[in-house]
Amino acid sequence: MIRINEVKLPLDHSEVALHDFVINKLSINKDQLVDIHVFKRGYDARKKNDIYLIYTLDITLKDVDEEQLLTTFADDHQVKKSPDTSYKYVAQAPKDLTERPIVIGMGPCGLFTGLILAQMGFNPIILERGKSVHERAKDTFRFWRTRELNTESNVQFGEGGAGTFSDGKLYSQVKDPHFLGLKVKQEFVAAGAPAEIIYVSKPHIGTYKLVTMVEKMRSKIIELGGEIRFETRVEEINIDDNQVTGVTLSTGEVIPSKHVALAIGHSARDTFKMLHDKGVHLEAQSFSVGFRIEHKQAMIDAARFGKNAGHPLLGAADYKLVHHCKNGRSVYSFCMCPGGVVVAATSELESVVTNGMSQYSRSERNANSAIVVGISPEDFANDPMQGIALQRKLERNAYVLGGSSYDAPAQCVGDFLAGKTISQMGDVEPSYKPNVKLTDLSSSLPDYAIEAIREALPAFNKKIKGFSNADSMLTGVETRTSSPVQIKRGKDFQSINTKGLYPGGEGAGYAGGILSAGIDGIKVAEAIALDMLNA
Ligand code: FAD
Repeated sequence: MIRINEVKLPLDHSEVALHDFVINKLSINKDQLVDIHVFKRGYDARKKNDIYLIYTLDITLKDVDEEQLLTTFADDHQVKKSPDTSYKYVAQAPKDLTERPIVIGMGPCGLFTGLILAQMGFNPIILERGKSVHERAKDTFRFWRTRELNTESNVQFGEGGAGTFSDGKLYSQVKDPHFLGLKVKQEFVAAGAPAEIIYVSKPHIGTYKLVTMVEKMRSKIIELGGEIRFETRVEEINIDDNQVTGVTLSTGEVIPSKHVALAIGHSARDTFKMLHDKGVHLEAQSFSVGFRIEHKQAMIDAARFGKNAGHPLLGAADYKLVHHCKNGRSVYSFCMCPGGVVVAATSELESVVTNGMSQYSRSERNANSAIVVGISPEDFANDPMQGIALQRKLERNAYVLGGSSYDAPAQCVGDFLAGKTISQMGDVEPSYKPNVKLTDLSSSLPDYAIEAIREALPAFNKKIKGFSNADSMLTGVETRTSSPVQIKRGKDFQSINTKGLYPGGEGAGYAGGILSAGIDGIKVAEAIALDMLNA
């Protein structure tokens, strides 16, 4: 197959335009063109009233000498041989397998570690502290309605992991030379995700679809010989002479294994402490803190897409912003949720944490995004435990500022920038549930972060007109942007001082988002399988 990159056509191009382009570009006749497969479709909206679609196409030809054609186009960066993107399993378990690998956590990292191990015949045991996704959804929505938090079953903990109640954005900046991201997306599609996630440049799934997909993937793992235990918290990793020997559960049960994948996410603070106490090598890692900002989605659509706002191929507009501040800090937008809602994302009592979620339709009235300031390990004495302590302090402070009832502290951008205590809400109604309390947010973050955000918001207004309008809404606090901890691993994917322990995903510092956590999960599964075969 022949790949043609960077094919640029107007947003409203005709159905035959791709066909015509390929025939002209490759100088072939129409009978030689068998199929055009869209590998990727993105858009260029730098000029909002003149938006282009950008395609990567895989072309099937007949009666054409492809090698000859590639030689003809050797100097043309647009035309290449299509790469082999199929996933190849690195191992197959022997029939007499005596050991079963353990996977701790069933977020996207643990889900894909478990799935790939199961597909290779290694019969993994997946241990998840939270409930199955259906039961977990009930607990999560109950918390948002009634303020009753289940600390083991919530937005962070339970089958599907942290991204289950989310926008389900599926893009990532990670290098992916082996197309593992495609394998993740193909498994998602097989479990019910829309087929377009394979080829659109900014795919998203939305929360309701994710819930049913996770259930289907669970069934697949079980059919393949895997075992999944919910409401099963790993209390201790058992280590003998720097080699993992198994895990002890909160019930006291011990499960032996010399291969344990650790896919615990960034919110398992008790588990991080246990690892620290056991002497597993942890390092401090940068993270960010800030607020969720809300605007009317229609305003963002108009600012980004002009007269093309509402076009079905564009959907609700997103944005990505960054500003480098005079005080040396950087402020950036993070985890933008077009047409979504701000959600209560704490997993600890008497804490308030914000995040964002949307449905596949992205049809809620507000756009929301985190506006966060980078914090580096030097800000917390290079100590991973102090990074966690700082997050926790800000979350508890937000709880108090919100009125000690799980309402979130909130403030209009106009008041925040003017340093005024509170006036009243404007046109942008905050979506956070159970509710928000209008207050002064200036004490909710370290001074340098407040100063940086006050500088960044007007700067963002130059990129998106209306961004710092007085009635834009800030809700605090966003603290769990990434893990303050890295569980360092070597090239063999094992902890650098604990053999048999395979840290992966966001909690270990090797992913940031659903797709990259899934990709990392596959890598961890491959490393475990290869080591088990060599044992
Ligand atoms: P997690 O998903 O956090 O999973 C870890 C799992 O381990 C949890 O289920 C937890 O219960 C379990 N666990 C922890 N400790 C133990 C233990 N001791 N024993 C047993 N089980 C344990 N990313 C995107 O790419 N796109 C988005 O749109 C997006 N939106 C988000 C919206 C929200 C509300 C949130 C909270 C996150 C969002 N993210 C999004 C981030 C994304 O969810 C995470 O990056 C991703 O889930 C990380 O995957 P993970 O498997 O590494 O960890």
